[in-house]
Amino acid sequence: MMTPARRTITRPLAFEGRTLHLGEPGAVVLMPAEAGAGWTLNGWSRAAWEHDDDAPLATSVVTPSGRVSTVEHLWAALALADIDDVHVTVDGAEVPILEGSAWEFLRALEPSACDSAPVTARSPWQSDWPGVALDVGAAHLTARPRAGSTWPLLEVASSWPGVAGGRLVVDLSEAGTRSRLARARTFGLVSTLPRLRAAGRALGADSTCCVGLTDAGEALPETPLRFDAEPLWHKALDLLGDLAWLPGPRAVCVTALDAGHAANGRLVRALLDRVGAT
Ligand SMILES: [Zn+2]
Repeated sequence: MMTPARRTITRPLAFEGRTLHLGEPGAVVLMPAEAGAGWTLNGWSRAAWEHDDDAPLATSVVTPSGRVSTVEHLWAALALADIDDVHVTVDGAEVPILEGSAWEFLRALEPSACDSAPVTARSPWQSDWPGVALDVGAAHLTARPRAGSTWPLLEVASSWPGVAGGRLVVDLSEAGTRSRLARARTFGLVSTLPRLRAAGRALGADSTCCVGLTDAGEALPETPLRFDAEPLWHKALDLLGDLAWLPGPRAVCVTALDAGHAANGRLVRALLDRVGAT
């Protein structure tokens, strides 16, 4: 099997909008990068990133020049567009939420994705790493190598009531699955909004970017679902965005039961020790 080429983008891409948690204006610019640069954030390579474990509602990257929050949907879009090398600049402390999913990022990225020039082969993961299983509070996560594919197989399960509960398997080797995953929007229980806002969170959450759920797990009439089980698909999108901390191809089968960003982050740390990714 031929080793795939590294991929970047052909031209700069810019995004602007309000942020989910701080409710402030935010902007992102993506620039083509040389083969081997990986993903950089505000000029810092992954080697200089640290994970913020104290932010369970979003994934944050701490670089020597500051912290950037809510990166997970952008990261998921870069993974879905199969981008190895890109320079990311975020203006502000948080990536804009746009319409709540990874769709606007992916819609711009896909036509811009290209092999690096000169064409440089990607370094594959080792395929013989031992599987990982861990419990983080009530969450249970496992990961093992996926043979015969360069795409992840994700299984998420949630004990939330209604449309946000149940079990879902997402095979990203299917292109149609990738676009559906990208379109799944952020969601939240409307009854928790006052508490979150009192804590300075979810200040930008509204019906333009968030599916509101009742305590019974039903979508509010003003935020109807785009498709069945959209909140579970969004759990899988967040998981992919969190896995994107791992460089290179992600030929992995992951199960995540009742897991959020903090638990996903623990899984990624365990994986980084095992997969020998470059
Ligand atoms: Zn999310």
